[in-house]
Amino acid sequence: MGTEIRVNLGGIIHFSTIDWRGKAAIVIFLRRCPFRCIYCQNYNLLETDNYVDMEVIEEAIRDSEDFIDAVVLSGGEPFMQPEAIAAISKYARQRSLYLGVQTNGYYPEAIESLLDADAIDKIFLDVKAPLGGARYEELTKAHGASERVRETLEILLARDVDAELITTVFKNIVGAGEVKQIVEELHEMGATCYPYVIQQGRIERVPPDAGLSEANIFSYEELEELASLAYHTAPLKEVRIRTRERGEEVIYK
Ligand code: SF4
Repeated sequence: MGTEIRVNLGGIIHFSTIDWRGKAAIVIFLRRCPFRCIYCQNYNLLETDNYVDMEVIEEAIRDSEDFIDAVVLSGGEPFMQPEAIAAISKYARQRSLYLGVQTNGYYPEAIESLLDADAIDKIFLDVKAPLGGARYEELTKAHGASERVRETLEILLARDVDAELITTVFKNIVGAGEVKQIVEELHEMGATCYPYVIQQGRIERVPPDAGLSEANIFSYEELEELASLAYHTAPLKEVRIRTRERGEEVIYK
């Protein structure tokens, strides 16, 4: 029997090997997000609701469990639904599956509380722009975004949580200058213990009025240059790039 919790569900990918490196996962997308990133690939999940019973989620997990090691929550922003995360985690634990959450970092209190309840095995945290200055708020259109992301990162570091840090790059939006500054900030914060992933921005599903085109996309070679810049700016544990053509690759370690 499912619990009383209802989940604002955006969709489910029943089998993925690209969302958690080294693990096969079911990916569950949760609706709504406090950010409005101009390059959002899931903007259709941001402003409408689709509440389902936990039983729907439990059934989907059961259908996939012979093929997976983990459940990954994505969005939207999963930490807008902490009770749903707790319920999904409880069920994942019952089925001996790991739980990872992809997050924009805007809800440090919810993250802290679920980490303290031992509900989460891994956090995939977006670092969308430099944490100092106004760029974060411009890009996400969310007040106080950079302070909250910084706080989230401090919580992960204080608890030695397994995590990855991800920056999505687009020419003329987030590029070499931003990557360099982000990496310097990560170094200052002592966050170079985490893999740093430079993700190629994509335009297929961005909002029609975003004004993005192929001209904004970094090529594979250009991403390698960004990885080199990141690695040589600070002593990072590992730098990866994630591209449409080749998936995720470790470039420096
Ligand atoms: S944080 Fe993610 S889901 Fe939210 S608007 Fe930005 S890209 Fe979209």
